[in-house]
Amino acid sequence: MKISRICRYCGGKVELVPARRIYGEAVKRLGLEDESIYLCLNCNARVGCHKGTTRPLGNVANEVLRLKRMETHQVFDTFWKSRGMSRTQGYKWLAGRMGLPERYTHIGGFEMDQCQQVIDLCRKCEQKEAA
Ligand SMILES: [Zn+2]
Repeated sequence: MKISRICRYCGGKVELVPARRIYGEAVKRLGLEDESIYLCLNCNARVGCHKGTTRPLGNVANEVLRLKRMETHQVFDTFWKSRGMSRTQGYKWLAGRMGLPERYTHIGGFEMDQCQQVIDLCRKCEQKEAA
């Protein structure tokens, strides 16, 4: 996926920066030491890259969308862990449900509506089992 170098929120310049610039020393804990991030120099909208590459996971996100992506990650990670799936199995399941190729199934690059779709899918599945 190609990323726009013009921020979709403010029209500012989007640049590739080392993750360290945003997360400081936390990069170690986050496992992002060698990773890069696309960052809007004007409004701080940003998006990470596929591990070990400079290929963006999706489009840059402002704070609202970043929070939504984080919430989605929490719901989804809890979901697959709680049913004894591996991470890979979890993403396979999700890709199938969303009708997306696995290589495009990255919550870190999802838009608002896709994040909500993930949350709804997990909840629906849980409700079905509880019934
Ligand atoms: Zn911006």
